[in-house]
Amino acid sequence: MTLDVYLSPHFDDAVLSCGGAIARASDAGADSLVMTTFGGAMPDGFVPGSLVRSLHARSGVLTNLVAERGREDEVALRLLGASGTFLDYPVASYRVLPDGRAPDSRALWRDLNPDDERLVWAILADVAPRIAAEATIHAPIGLGGHVDHRIVRRVGQALADQGRRVVWYEDLPYAARSSRRVLADTTANLSPVLRLLSSDQLARKVRAVAAYSTQVRLIWGWQFLMAWELRRYARRVGGGTPAEREWTHARRESGPVTPSPG
Ligand SMILES: [Zn+2]
Repeated sequence: MTLDVYLSPHFDDAVLSCGGAIARASDAGADSLVMTTFGGAMPDGFVPGSLVRSLHARSGVLTNLVAERGREDEVALRLLGASGTFLDYPVASYRVLPDGRAPDSRALWRDLNPDDERLVWAILADVAPRIAAEATIHAPIGLGGHVDHRIVRRVGQALADQGRRVVWYEDLPYAARSSRRVLADTTANLSPVLRLLSSDQLARKVRAVAAYSTQVRLIWGWQFLMAWELRRYARRVGGGTPAEREWTHARRESGPVTPSPG
């Protein structure tokens, strides 16, 4: 039985943000399921604007970047010992805006428009029946403000409102680049949960993230810069011990809690 379900806006978010904890769960014999919500191909008839043309050119994938990232995701999840599934909603860069325009890069960091609001409820209706009642659902807290992450955060909130157990993971690499003030505002009224990692678990996470070579090229340019940033973040949140951090509505009693496994 899968007890940990990760809602991942894109192929890579769950592994980037929680890959160490997924490896830890696998070491303990527990299965994790990564459910990617925006795994759809570019819709027929979508005319790429400058954003998509640039993303495709810079990633080195000229036709369908999301499909390529799905193949990378299979490799990454295999390395971590996790299962994966995806919904075929198109990513924000493949969705036209309400006025019919293709989005530019600024439009990816928007507040939800009415089409995005409808997506929250459509995705909720898709994922809720697929998740066992006793599962812990890990959802992005929305650091960075990408509209797809905001949508999935809202899905997580709706699941929490239904009484599901939901915890919020810090979206990487945005979390590593967020100011203390942004982190404090985003996590107001929540309590941190540190998930301590062995050096081997952190190393496996970095290897798994390296499998998303198109994304590493876009975000960091070089694999070693990705490894450096993820390792630095892990040591910082763990106070010297590698860790990942989630946030929960549960009241903190005496310092960070480290649940086991995963
Ligand atoms: Zn993402």
